[in-house]
Amino acid sequence: MIRLENVSKYYKNLCVLKDINVNIEKGNIISLIGPSGCGKSTFLKCINGLTSVTEGKIYIDDLEITAKGVDLNKIRSEVGIVFQQFNLFPHLTVRENINLAPVKVKKMPKNDVEMQTMYLLEKVGVLDKIDKYPDQLSGGQAQRVAIARSLAMQPKIMLFDEPTSALDPQMTLEVLDTIKDLAKEGMTMVVVTHEMGFAKEIADKVIFLSRGKIIEEGEPSKIFDNPEKKITEDFINSVLKH
Ligand code: ADP
Ligand code: MG
Repeated sequence: MIRLENVSKYYKNLCVLKDINVNIEKGNIISLIGPSGCGKSTFLKCINGLTSVTEGKIYIDDLEITAKGVDLNKIRSEVGIVFQQFNLFPHLTVRENINLAPVKVKKMPKNDVEMQTMYLLEKVGVLDKIDKYPDQLSGGQAQRVAIARSLAMQPKIMLFDEPTSALDPQMTLEVLDTIKDLAKEGMTMVVVTHEMGFAKEIADKVIFLSRGKIIEEGEPSKIFDNPEKKITEDFINSVLKH
């Protein structure tokens, strides 16, 4: 479903991703881990066309999204992304935040959009906040609204970039539960997270990235409990200490 072939990404002379090859099957859940600055966010941004690759190719199904002239809006509606900071529009209500893209970008009928928005808010457990503004929500509620907003575009793939790292433990649980529900429904996902218990529970595969290279990948139990490389082990231990 998602295929990266020899992908490299440079910012000027800085090599941020180096010769990445990854194949993600439909319905798979990948947990992407690695030290700060190793290229995790850049990896996600390349997959939904928020940034261009320097070398290599990325395919979503049979579409090469790195080809010239590809419709980036189409890719972004098929690949949803949720960031650490929720990026909701502060001057719009929850309802308006979620309605916006389906109406403007997808040109869905207004009534269908309204129904879908209510359905999605119910699903992520914040339907009662539909007419509130973002600053009237807790962090966990805001993040669940951000997830609903992404889902409103009916994506095939969801990318999460440290979705709980700005949240306290209780809110983290709420958001992780929401992501787990999506996992159960068979959504294809790439999740950058250092919540290892969570990654162990839901991930089909963990990819450990360091300085833009894939150092090791495999089942969560292998990477977390029995890593092959010293650098992976050191990283896992440093996360566990926090
Ligand atoms: P991570 O998400 O793993 O912390 P990032 O993908 O955000 O890492 O960043 C990887 C590297 O690329 C870092 O050294 C970062 O400073 C650099 N970088 C990220 N975005 C840009 C940019 N727009 N311009 C220049 N350098 C960038
Ligand atoms: Mg990042």
